[in-house]
Amino acid sequence: RTRTSADLIRAEEPVLAHNYHPLPVVVARAEGVWVEDVEGRRYLDMLAGYSALNFGHRHPALIEAAHRQLDRLTLTSRAFHHDRLAGFAARLARLTGHDMVLPMNTGAEAVESGIKVARKWAYEVKGVPADRATIVVAAENFHGRTTTIVGFSTDESARAGFGPFTPGFRIVPYNDLAALEAAVDETTAAVLIEPIQGEAGVVIPDDGYLTGVRELTRSAGCLFVADEIQSGLGRTGRTLAVEHESVVPDVVLLGKALGGGIVPVSAVLARRDVLGVLRPGEHGSTFGGNPLAAAVGTAVVELLETGEFQRRAADLGVVLRDGLTALVGRGVVGFRSRGLWAGVDIDPAIGTGREVGERLLREGVLVKDTHGSTIRLAPPLTITADELRSALGALEKVLV
Ligand code: PLP
Repeated sequence: RTRTSADLIRAEEPVLAHNYHPLPVVVARAEGVWVEDVEGRRYLDMLAGYSALNFGHRHPALIEAAHRQLDRLTLTSRAFHHDRLAGFAARLARLTGHDMVLPMNTGAEAVESGIKVARKWAYEVKGVPADRATIVVAAENFHGRTTTIVGFSTDESARAGFGPFTPGFRIVPYNDLAALEAAVDETTAAVLIEPIQGEAGVVIPDDGYLTGVRELTRSAGCLFVADEIQSGLGRTGRTLAVEHESVVPDVVLLGKALGGGIVPVSAVLARRDVLGVLRPGEHGSTFGGNPLAAAVGTAVVELLETGEFQRRAADLGVVLRDGLTALVGRGVVGFRSRGLWAGVDIDPAIGTGREVGERLLREGVLVKDTHGSTIRLAPPLTITADELRSALGALEKVLV
């Protein structure tokens, strides 16, 4: 007998770690912006794998690239060269305007790698005394789940019970240049921030903040490391979110959509004088830059080279913003959006973000709450204006 969604949810409970509280839907297949559950019910995916599915589910060009590579070569490890890596690195570097690429797998790994590179750069290039390097980060950050990364989180549920933590981090309020300036000194290797804080609720800094971070880090002689793992690769209407202020960080971290929703692919991008501090044996990853990842990543870069997805995100971002503006005062207390990405604060009298998510699920729309009464909207960039309006219509319906 085929197992129902309820059966499968029950079957997870005794055997799966309880580190997530998923909405009660069991997805069995998907295409584009639509997912289908075990019973064949269809849902509009307004989360897109936390922006890992910017090109939608199973984009034909990405699936084809993966199939072609599966038939030839999937893994070598970095003990040998393989024929897909040079092309991937060169095209990704060209797309983002950086010199070099360090390929990794998950977002947290890219962040860890960025931290290691910044520290090594501080000792070898800047001349910070051994083991004294500091990295300045922002409150309410989200950079991943490793022990080092949660060590500089300000979210107690991410930290509690996981110490002791890696020293060497200073936390300042986000969007506060004066606090940043006060925290930076001669030990500072880098300032690590998200250009838009995704998990915090799509928090967009004031115009001029990223420019200020760029000027401050340049004059202080430390690196600006931008975590574009969620904000990058078309989501905000540009290839990178820092482009909204025409800012070029020293180091850019990418992940999520770089793997096309097929495989985990992340990367650290930087100039030669920064990434060049890594020499053989000092850093690595068995799977980082593997042939399948490189093939899919190259196909992702090819999609972004057309500019079509960035344009769609910018154009449809207007539809999203207008739709949400119309809901302010009618169940929505406020929202922040850039491109096809929004954090929507629901009137707590109507329900928690979780409850709104459950109601939207019943309307055939998948979203995820972030904190308290905030839900995040981040549909695939392939969504049509009509599909987006129907999702906004469903939101309006559940907010009464
Ligand atoms: N950095 C940012 C800005 C993120 O949003 C995330 C994931 O949500 C990460 C890093 C961590 O990525 P991963 O879950 O692939 O380790």
